[in-house]
Parts: sequence; C-alpha cells; structure tokens
Amino acid sequence: MRTPFVAANWKMFKTVHESFVYVKELARLVKDVVDVEIVVAPPFTSLHTAAEAARNTNIGVAGQDVHFEKEGAFTGEVSAAMLKEAGAEYVIIGHSERRTLFGETDATVARKVASALAATLTPIACIGETLAERERGETFDVLNRQIRDGLGGVPPAELPNLVVAYEPVWAIGTGRTATAEQAQEAHAHIRRQLRETFGEEPAAACRIIYGGSVKPATTRDLVTQPDVDGALVGGASLDVLAFHEIVARSRPEAV
Ligand code: PEP
Repeated sequence: MRTPFVAANWKMFKTVHESFVYVKELARLVKDVVDVEIVVAPPFTSLHTAAEAARNTNIGVAGQDVHFEKEGAFTGEVSAAMLKEAGAEYVIIGHSERRTLFGETDATVARKVASALAATLTPIACIGETLAERERGETFDVLNRQIRDGLGGVPPAELPNLVVAYEPVWAIGTGRTATAEQAQEAHAHIRRQLRETFGEEPAAACRIIYGGSVKPATTRDLVTQPDVDGALVGGASLDVLAFHEIVARSRPEAV
C-alpha cells in the first residue's frame, strides 16, 4: 500500500554536465517503472539542470539541505522556495553528515522540516544512531529523541508527505550495511513511535526508507522487510547502472 521510495544522494559529487548526462540516462533506464517513486539529490549547482533533464519523466529531484528562513543574510544557504523554483519537489534534511560535520541538531531539523512542508517540498528526514550509541544499547532512545524533537511538530495530516530515512551512522559510507533484521527492528520501532505520536493512519502512510551502504546485492533483503519502504543510496547511486539496479530490485513485483 506504500509506494516504494528510492532516492540517490550524490553528496558533493557530479558537475552540472555530469548531472545532466546521468539523469537523461536514468530516465531511459526507468521509463517503464511506475511502481517506485524515484528521486535524485544533486548538489545545489546541478539542481535546476537535473530538474530540467527530469521534466516529463518519472524522476523527481531533491535538494540535499535547506535553510529554515525564507530569505536573509545567510551566506551559502538556500531557502525552500529557491529549491522549489529550481525544480525540486523533495529535500533531504538532517543527514548525519550535516549533523556531525556542520552542527545540525534536532532543533534545526524541526525548523527545516517545517519550512520544507510550508513550501510543499517533501522532506526526507534522516535519523539514526552512531555505533557507540548502538553498542551502549541506546538505539531506540536516540530514535525516540530524534523523532520527538525533530519531527514532533509535524501536523499528522502531513505524515503522508514526509519520508523518514533510517540511516544508522555506522553504516553510512562504511560498506557495512545493517542486516535486514537490524533494519526491520529499527523501522518497526520508528513506525511504533510515529503511531504513538501521530496516530495509526498517518504512521501507516509514512514511508520509512533505509540508508547505509545499500548496494544492488543487498537491496532485496532490505526492501522485503515489512517496514522498509525503500532506500536512500549514497555511494552506489553515483553509478547510474547500479542505481537503476537498486530501483529495479525495489519494485513490488520484484519482491
Ligand atoms: C547516504 O549518504 O545517505 C548514504 C546512505 O550513503 P552510503 O550509501 O554511501 O552509505
């Protein structure tokens, strides 16, 4: 009942030209895929070109971050309205690299999610524990805090317009994927928390996707878990063929 959602996070990779070539090629590869929501998140400089290349295709475009103010003296930042006008329909918020390298907190996540929703961008809100937190048995506590403080202010009616990405920090860019069982355990917990916070129906409608070293070979095990609704893919998404393979393996009939 939830459409699988697969997004490519290119991070700080790909020039404008490379982005254009990639999206054109991806569009050709996925033109018959109607049962997966497919998104690419280029760097800001490529966003408009990627969106133009994706026009009239089944590929959506996401920003990798957004500022929470509408405009102002915030050198280096972009607003939700700017992303929207450049052609984005989605935005990644609170990625662990933003949290650890650029000081983002649950409080900034909350403000960014609100500004994205106000601009009718779909937030892809990232949560997840570090290795130390997992080893101390704090995974569920961390997820509870991130949901409460980062997402707690979202109106329940907006939950179908929110994608939650469970990205255990220890699995991002490390080649170490969570097992399907670890992912399902965390996703089921996240959905329970969403149910408690927002109610049964909104929680059932919210896509919870997994991110952390997803590769074509690990996709099916992950997406066949009942609470895993797709993937946020970093490294493997840089290769259009590998990303296409991940999309193909996320299709309901492939499952
Ligand atoms: C990510 O950047 O969100 C990510 C999951 O990266 P990787 O797939 O490289 O671990």
